[in-house]
Amino acid sequence: MRTGVFAEWIVPVDGPPVERGWILAEDGIVVDVGSGHAPEACGPYRPGMVVTPGFVSAHVHLPLGALRGVADDASFLPWISRGVLPATSRIDTEAPHLWLEGARLSASELLRSGVTCVGENHFRLDGMRALSEKGMRGVFFAEVFGSLAPDEEAAWRETERRIDALPSDFDGLPWGLSPHTPWTCPRFTLGKTVERARRDARRLSFHLEESAEERDFLLRSTGPLHAANAARGTLERFDLGMTPTELVDRAGALGPTSLVAHVVVAESDDLDRLSRTGTHVVHCPTSNLKLGEGMADVPEMRRRGINVALGTDSFASSARGDFFEEMRVAIWMARGRRRDASVLTATDVLTMATTNGAKALGLDARIGGLSVGKAADWIVHDVLGPERRGVSGPADAVVFLGAPEHVRDVVIAGRVRHRKGA
Ligand SMILES: [Zn+2]
Repeated sequence: MRTGVFAEWIVPVDGPPVERGWILAEDGIVVDVGSGHAPEACGPYRPGMVVTPGFVSAHVHLPLGALRGVADDASFLPWISRGVLPATSRIDTEAPHLWLEGARLSASELLRSGVTCVGENHFRLDGMRALSEKGMRGVFFAEVFGSLAPDEEAAWRETERRIDALPSDFDGLPWGLSPHTPWTCPRFTLGKTVERARRDARRLSFHLEESAEERDFLLRSTGPLHAANAARGTLERFDLGMTPTELVDRAGALGPTSLVAHVVVAESDDLDRLSRTGTHVVHCPTSNLKLGEGMADVPEMRRRGINVALGTDSFASSARGDFFEEMRVAIWMARGRRRDASVLTATDVLTMATTNGAKALGLDARIGGLSVGKAADWIVHDVLGPERRGVSGPADAVVFLGAPEHVRDVVIAGRVRHRKGA
């Protein structure tokens, strides 16, 4: 089936912007891109519209849509201990159907803000079901924990049973493993997870350097996480005395098939390790700011050649699935932190939101741009109409003026999956 779009601007991200541009797709794949007179299948010219690739939110937990509003004003650890953990066990025991409802809510909001592909981290498959229902793409990462288990080896055997029961792929996309964090996955569990991922050639996705407490525990043997593990008698499960990044590097968890979320409190040596190993970073600025964790130094990571993608994290920590807000907060955070407005541009952040996310998920040959051969996944943004003109270019218009209410169409594999007002 042939389809397409013809708009005032095409911003393919993996190529230069095209004025009065069109994209022609066949069977869900881009087969031609041009300007001027468009093939009939591209439909009528749409003035005021800018077309970009679909957004990639490379770090989400879709079922946690059910936890929106838990401990809204709590910092990281109280948010987990007083908000996420009790709410999770309550839903697990009393109303597990809420996980699927939460996943559907998360997926709908993300789709309305132009997200066409996600990196989904959870131990349940409700998120993958919600994505499939909406025709969205997703790379599943099966979450693995270890520190709270009374018997870590028994917990790992149960984890392996769950992993063995997974299908070979989800809608054609390979899945990976998520050893949750270096402070919830001690030496044994982290080692087993990395070993299994390497044996089966699967990607790894995990949280890293998210909070000061994580660093206090693993590097300095101080703080509330150290006290909690001491009280539980689980301290000997960990290799302490290293930064979180050094710890996961020594465990073999870094590399070009690994993506790590947050990296808020990492220091220079840690960024060197991430750069040297080709590890991808997923920046989740709204989540980090809402939880009061701090500000990742994205311009410095980019300067060191690290591939930095964007993620919305879960509604338990970022409250909304609005990718435009995520892009803008990333820019404001970088500029405010550096006191320099040139350190992160609209084009930079649009690249993080598309191509870099695709690279982090290992899908850059298929998505993340609109050149010939890529998937026909695009967003039509109504951002150059008379009431919104005045910005410097089409990428700036999308990033600075874009919003879910200005998204006209979201197309995935050539099919309209969201249309404003439809
Ligand atoms: Zn997360």
